[in-house]
Amino acid sequence: MEKIQWPQGRKCAVMLTFDLDGDTTWANGNRDYPGGEHFIKSTSIGQYGPKRSADMLLEVLGRYQVPATFFVPGQVAERNPLVIEKIAAAGHEIGHHGYTHERFFDKTPQEQIEIFQKSQEIYTKILGKPVTGFRTPSGDWSVETPSILHQLGFSYSSSMRGDDRPYRTVIDGKETDLIEIPTRWELDDYVEMAYNFFPAEPCGQDRISGYSCVLDNFTREFDGYRRYGLCCVFMMHPQVTGTPGKIQILEKLLAHMTAKGDVWFATGEQVAQWWRKTYPIALNTTKEGK
Ligand SMILES: [Zn+2]
Repeated sequence: MEKIQWPQGRKCAVMLTFDLDGDTTWANGNRDYPGGEHFIKSTSIGQYGPKRSADMLLEVLGRYQVPATFFVPGQVAERNPLVIEKIAAAGHEIGHHGYTHERFFDKTPQEQIEIFQKSQEIYTKILGKPVTGFRTPSGDWSVETPSILHQLGFSYSSSMRGDDRPYRTVIDGKETDLIEIPTRWELDDYVEMAYNFFPAEPCGQDRISGYSCVLDNFTREFDGYRRYGLCCVFMMHPQVTGTPGKIQILEKLLAHMTAKGDVWFATGEQVAQWWRKTYPIALNTTKEGK
C-alpha cells in the first residue's frame, strides 16, 4: 500500500469533526408528519447541541489540545452567534453545512448558490472572515455541486465515503484544487448512538448502543487508520456525543490517540492545504475510480 506523507513524519492524520446541526435535522424530519412542524420534543433534542454540548466538547478538546472542525448550518450559526464565536476563539474551524441542513440533490444550481451565499454572509458577520470548507448535509450532492463549490472558491469538502485518504475532486474529467476529505459511516456517532422514539431514529428502532462497544469500534478504526497511515475523519454530532455519559467515549478515545505521540491532529483546512502542497495535480488528469 502506498505510504502517505504527513507533516513532521507523523504516522497518520486525525480530523475531528462535529456537525453542529442544532434542531435543523429534527425540524426537517418532523415535516414528514401531519402537524409535525409543531413537534417540540424532537426539536429540543437538537437544541441540546448548541445549548449544552458545545461547552462540554470545548472543555474536552481544550484539555487534550486538539483542533477540530465544526460544520454548522447557517441558520444554527445565525441563532447561536456566541457559540460560534466561542468555538472559533478556542482555535477550531467552522465549515458550511447548508442553511437549514437542506438536501442538495433536491436543489437547483441557483438554489445551492443562494444557500452557500446566505450562509457565508452569516459566518463572515460572526467570524470577520469567510469559511472555506463544506460538508454536505443529509442526502447527497447534486451532479452540479462539485463545480459550484469549485467556482465559489471552496478549499475542500468532507462529504464522500469512497476513500480513506484525501483526494483532488475531478470535475469535467480534470483534477482540481478542490480537496475531498472523505469520512465513513463507521466513524459517525449518529449511526452508532442517535435515538428518538417518535419520529423514529433509527427507523427500525433498536438502539442505544453500549458505550463501551462504541468506544471499542472507534478505537479499532483509529488503530487501523494509524496502521495504514491514512486520514481518519471522525464525524460526530455535539447533540449525540456531547452528553454527560457519552462525552467519556470521546475523552477515552482522545487519551488513546494522543498517547501515541505520532498522530497529526488537523482541521479540514489544514489537511486540504497539506494535500494540495504535497500531492500536486497529476499529469494524467483522468483517473479511473474518482
Ligand atoms: Zn448534519
